[in-house]
Amino acid sequence: MVGGLAAVSLAVAQTKSEGAKPEETEVWKPAVPVVAPVQNPGAPPSDAIILFDGKNLDQWVSALDKSPAVWTVEGGVFTVNKARGNIETKRSFRDYQLHLEWRIPANITGSGQARGNSGVFLASTGPRDQGYEVQILDSYGNATYVNGQAASVYKQHPPLANASRKPGEWQTYDIVWHAPVFGADGALTTPANVTVIHNGVLAQDHAVLAGETVYIGKPSYKAHGPAPIKLQAHGDPSEPISFRNIWVRELTPR
Ligand code: MG
Repeated sequence: MVGGLAAVSLAVAQTKSEGAKPEETEVWKPAVPVVAPVQNPGAPPSDAIILFDGKNLDQWVSALDKSPAVWTVEGGVFTVNKARGNIETKRSFRDYQLHLEWRIPANITGSGQARGNSGVFLASTGPRDQGYEVQILDSYGNATYVNGQAASVYKQHPPLANASRKPGEWQTYDIVWHAPVFGADGALTTPANVTVIHNGVLAQDHAVLAGETVYIGKPSYKAHGPAPIKLQAHGDPSEPISFRNIWVRELTPR
């Protein structure tokens, strides 16, 4: 019987006898791009596109009519203006790594879905809630359906863990998004998938989406190209939430 080290030795011997060299399986080009390491967690890497640096909403427009975004900017953060609807990035994206920070107000009221509801739509396909939403909500001791709590892919995937901080504290999402791919005929070729890290804890692990996230009914896909990232002005009456430090790194589509 040949096993363990003897088997390895035999395999090496066979490889050598076939004339193969280790260099044959080394890949040198194209070179991996150099990105400076981040000094502080959450700080934008050297190749990031800054979507909000605390100063203004120049990178954002109203999702309703593409006019300048008028959510409130104050003290290095911006706050949802529920009366003015969703906002979205001027730029469109396909696949990317996204970092954003959000805060439920310390004085939040309400319950369930009506307690600090917002959301990040990873590709916006319309002015209202069309697209693919990762939920933002106060899920610190606030019960709701699990596929609608913070860090869920809304009504498709509950988060793997509830890493919510309490109201008043800043929270982070680090998201890797691979947009769906459609053929020339508009048919779905590859579904979207998303990985979400919430406050440093894995919440979505390459979750595959069944289509756009919808409030009522079953999700489905409709063809689209590169799309803006959108933030939700949810209609619930609870106090509006705030955002800061938002950046994105575009990824080369697979
Ligand atoms: Mg929402």
